[in-house]
Amino acid sequence: MITEAELLAKIPNRLYIGGQWVESTSGRTIDVLDPATGNVLMSIADASVSDGALAMDAADAAQASWGATPARVRGEILRRAFDLLQERKEEFALLMTLEMGKPLAEARGEVAYGGEFLRWFSEEAVRISGHYGNNPEGTGTMIVTHRPVGPSFLITPWNFPLAMATRKIAPAIAAGCTAVIKPAELTPLTTLYFAQLLEDAGLPAGVVNVITTSTSAAVSAPIIADPRLRKLSFTGSTSVGIALLKQAADGVLRTSMELGGNAPFVVFADADLDKAVEGALLAKFRNIGEACTAANRFIVHESIAEEFAARVTAAVSEFLIGRGTDDAVRIGPLINAAAVTKAADLVNDAVSRGATVRTGGSKVDGPGTFFQPTVLTGVVAGSDILREEIFGPVLAITTFTDEADAVAKANDTQYGLVSYVYTRDLARGQRMIESLATGMMGLNVGVISNAAAPFGGVKQSGMGREGGAQGIHEYLETKYTMTPNAFA
Ligand code: NAD
Repeated sequence: MITEAELLAKIPNRLYIGGQWVESTSGRTIDVLDPATGNVLMSIADASVSDGALAMDAADAAQASWGATPARVRGEILRRAFDLLQERKEEFALLMTLEMGKPLAEARGEVAYGGEFLRWFSEEAVRISGHYGNNPEGTGTMIVTHRPVGPSFLITPWNFPLAMATRKIAPAIAAGCTAVIKPAELTPLTTLYFAQLLEDAGLPAGVVNVITTSTSAAVSAPIIADPRLRKLSFTGSTSVGIALLKQAADGVLRTSMELGGNAPFVVFADADLDKAVEGALLAKFRNIGEACTAANRFIVHESIAEEFAARVTAAVSEFLIGRGTDDAVRIGPLINAAAVTKAADLVNDAVSRGATVRTGGSKVDGPGTFFQPTVLTGVVAGSDILREEIFGPVLAITTFTDEADAVAKANDTQYGLVSYVYTRDLARGQRMIESLATGMMGLNVGVISNAAAPFGGVKQSGMGREGGAQGIHEYLETKYTMTPNAFA
């Protein structure tokens, strides 16, 4: 097993532009911290506005030849990248644990999940098809083809450093688009190391360019305003997504937005309670609660709410907190001090309105930015924790009376990413599929993500889909041609 020091010595600390590892023209660096200790892991280049322009130049210069590269060649590069990731999976897992804090077992799970986008889109690259057929009148032939959108700007968050990158890079490469990717400044190392892997897999210079920066807004705005850019794909908070959509409007860019969530987790009285508890613990505490798909509001039928609360509390109070490199740890650190303060504020607000802390409830003294895994019951309507994305290990329980009440409470949010429903009644499950305003649903299951599925939200959780058959179309234009029917 590689040591932390050996691994960090392998991670590139410069920008990746046009197939070269280059220093930033700013001369500045970003310190990347281990959230479990507060120690600096390593320092990396801090891109300036001019570096962003150079990355855009490189992506633009590579677009024509990459777009003309046979789909089979693009797919095979992705497949090699998948194979290399399997060889380096322990390194990527440890790297994510170091820079983001998630327990090693979960980091390994993310390598498996993130890697599947490489394999999936290696297969999708050669299945980009069109349509050829007569018009209804029989007078003309209609030809529909798909072309790469063109240079794409990909912005990713810190919570899933590998999977959020591969979920965008793989379909862009498969579709024949070049890209500039800007990872979150809190967890940039995984993307830098992944760029190295893509180079090793044979990706030509300039197809993927990586800029890491502490001044995201300043560096991103000119890229988004660049007339050569054709596509913006963003994963992150709704507030930043809204700001970026406004910028993208000026260039009439194609956009994909994977934004925040506020997932309801509805447990009906007829649910298999063992399975509901197991699903709840996964849906809430995976990734330390720092997932857009994390269950945010537990809406439990009043007749079983106490039983459900007692069971989850018994499990959660056993969770070990610590640095994710320790195999026994279930709850790693939150990403930074602001995240700890936010979790504490949400708990305090809920308690001030009448909620009860069943376990946890407080921050843990440093070093590191830890918050105790927490269960709250009796959370009343109007509490901030029901409205805001918690992004931390706090399980907040509220109750409902009947199905209509459950649906009304579940839909009472501007978000619409995912919902979870537990019931043994299939007809009720089908009614919930129709009634809940979310882009995705887990029906009797607490984890839904899969590279073969269309991931995405409705309402203020975003637009567009990543993964599945839809994912590649986010990077493809549709072209329709009419020609007279030769037989008419
Ligand atoms: P964030 O919005 O603060 O940052 C996301 C990315 O945008 C980072 O790379 C950041 O540097 C960059 N950024 C911030 N301001 C910018 C600006 N003005 N211009 C250009 N780039 C800017 O979000 P975060 O805190 O990194 O991530 C957590 C959020 O991401 C949560 O809301 C979570 O729900 C969401 N998320 C959504 C999905 C999804 O698929 N729907 C997946 C993971 C995370």
